[in-house]
Amino acid sequence: MKYDVLIIGAGIAGLYTALSLPSNLKVLVLSKDEINNCNTYRAQGGIACVWDEDDDFEIHMEDSLKAGNGKNNKKMLEIMVSEGPKNIQNLIDYGVDFDKNERGYDLTLEGGHTKRRILHYKDTTGKRVIEVLAQNAFKKNNIEIHERAMAVDITKCRNGFLTTVLDENEESMYIESDFTVIASGGIGRLYKYTTNASIASGDGITLASKAGAKLKHMDLIQFHPTGLYENSGDRFLISESVRGEGGILRNNKKEAFMHLYHEMADLAPRDVVSKSMLKEMKNSNSNYLYLDVTAKPKEYLKNRFPHIYKSCKNRKLSMEKDFIPVSPCQHYFMGGIEVDEFGSTTVENLYATGECACTEVHGNNRLASNSLLEALVFSKRVAKSIGGKHSRLGNKDKKSNTKVEARIHDDYDLKGLSYTEKKHLELSEIESLKNKVREIMQNSFFVNFNIDYAEKNIEAINELKSELNLYKNNNKNFYELVSLAEVSNIILKEKLKNARVSN
Ligand SMILES: Cc1cc2nc3c(=O)[nH]c(=O)nc-3n(C[C@H](O)[C@H](O)[C@H](O)COP(=O)(O)OP(=O)(O)OC[C@H]3O[C@@H](n4cnc5c(N)ncnc54)[C@H](O)[C@@H]3O)c2cc1C
Repeated sequence: MKYDVLIIGAGIAGLYTALSLPSNLKVLVLSKDEINNCNTYRAQGGIACVWDEDDDFEIHMEDSLKAGNGKNNKKMLEIMVSEGPKNIQNLIDYGVDFDKNERGYDLTLEGGHTKRRILHYKDTTGKRVIEVLAQNAFKKNNIEIHERAMAVDITKCRNGFLTTVLDENEESMYIESDFTVIASGGIGRLYKYTTNASIASGDGITLASKAGAKLKHMDLIQFHPTGLYENSGDRFLISESVRGEGGILRNNKKEAFMHLYHEMADLAPRDVVSKSMLKEMKNSNSNYLYLDVTAKPKEYLKNRFPHIYKSCKNRKLSMEKDFIPVSPCQHYFMGGIEVDEFGSTTVENLYATGECACTEVHGNNRLASNSLLEALVFSKRVAKSIGGKHSRLGNKDKKSNTKVEARIHDDYDLKGLSYTEKKHLELSEIESLKNKVREIMQNSFFVNFNIDYAEKNIEAINELKSELNLYKNNNKNFYELVSLAEVSNIILKEKLKNARVSN
């Protein structure tokens, strides 16, 4: 099958890129699972943007720089902040009906922001964005969306790319494209405790790296302070906007403590809050602390945070009466595939956008609600760049790449073994190996870095990575495991290197 553009990912980055491309381009969008299973769908708080007259681009930049510890790329940050409003307007035009009050859009506040600038749809902004973008994309004749289709290999060819995809029956299909956009989201599933969707196994980063693209800042991971504490690893997020609207963190003695750590107290940037919480947890030998929003009336909470309210209720917690048990968890990835201001990677005609791309706008700690904004602004730019290149390309040099298919099959012969000689991993073995990687990541690098543990255990990940070449599984779970091993190995190596330098 041949397309002008293949987009790997159907979150905000993938769908908005598809919709922003010229309508004469034939576009295929892949979603590894159902379209709702992505980080975008889980976004609660909203999208940061200079919208109010009282706000301006400089202040948004200052807040982002402060949160990012000054490590942000200022040129990229300026692009994001200044091109934000027109992209938000596009979302509104597509049909995203952000909440309003008597003065216009209801702008909320979150940690690290000094102005109210977060547009939101109740506390389910991401769900609304995906619903609206998907509805628009399904209506377009030039866009096809394949759900439950996982990209497992990208090969650069003379005329573009040949991508191997496992379809919903886990059969291989081969997609040719002139341009490929990786919009595959985050890496949360490298961890035991994460807010991320189950698709977030860093696949796009693995694919890009294997296709020769450079990666950047692979040790920049954000941990969110307030995952709802439960025994399972999947952490339901209690949005930062709960603290923005007056929620207070309390320790085990039920005392507020954040004012002891930072002038912005409970609204300090995420890295500061997460680190402070771990200290408090250590001091009291506890696995969790509390978020107290009981000063707010029930009706307000039910109306402003319906999703969080209901999710707490399902766990027998009433936000207006009970303190909510919370603990930090993996949340966001600031590193990723190196891109320029148009989302181009270091491989010609291979683009990356959204959470898998490293634009450096966040520095080493993302300011709340800047991620959806980043995805919008840079996806628009990716589409613009591809549109321009495609029209210059015309019809020349567009022959099929199908000859490469034969090579793809040979590629299974990675360790001098023929495909049939290789061993097979059972599903339960794959799951247990995934958990092993998660255990190592959790113990090595979770808010703080445990250099001794990482040094002792990185070899186990290295060995796993090599061993996986001996197996012939051609299923989605196996490729996710390959990606977990690949990405965690790169992250730990980079973190160790940087930790040794700063020691
Ligand atoms: C709980 C939660 C709350 C958040 N709240 C906010 C917020 O309020 N504001 C904010 O700005 N940010 C928020 N974030 C961060 C933000 O939601 C994400 O960074 C952003 O949505 C990422 O968008 P994306 O399109 O890059 O990735 P995603 O939305 O995760 O989409 C990734 C897509 O790639 C597909 N994919 C992955 N691998 C493959 C493969 N191998 N083959 C085919 N398809 C593949 C997936 O199926 C999916 O369609 C939140 C994140 C979480 C987890």
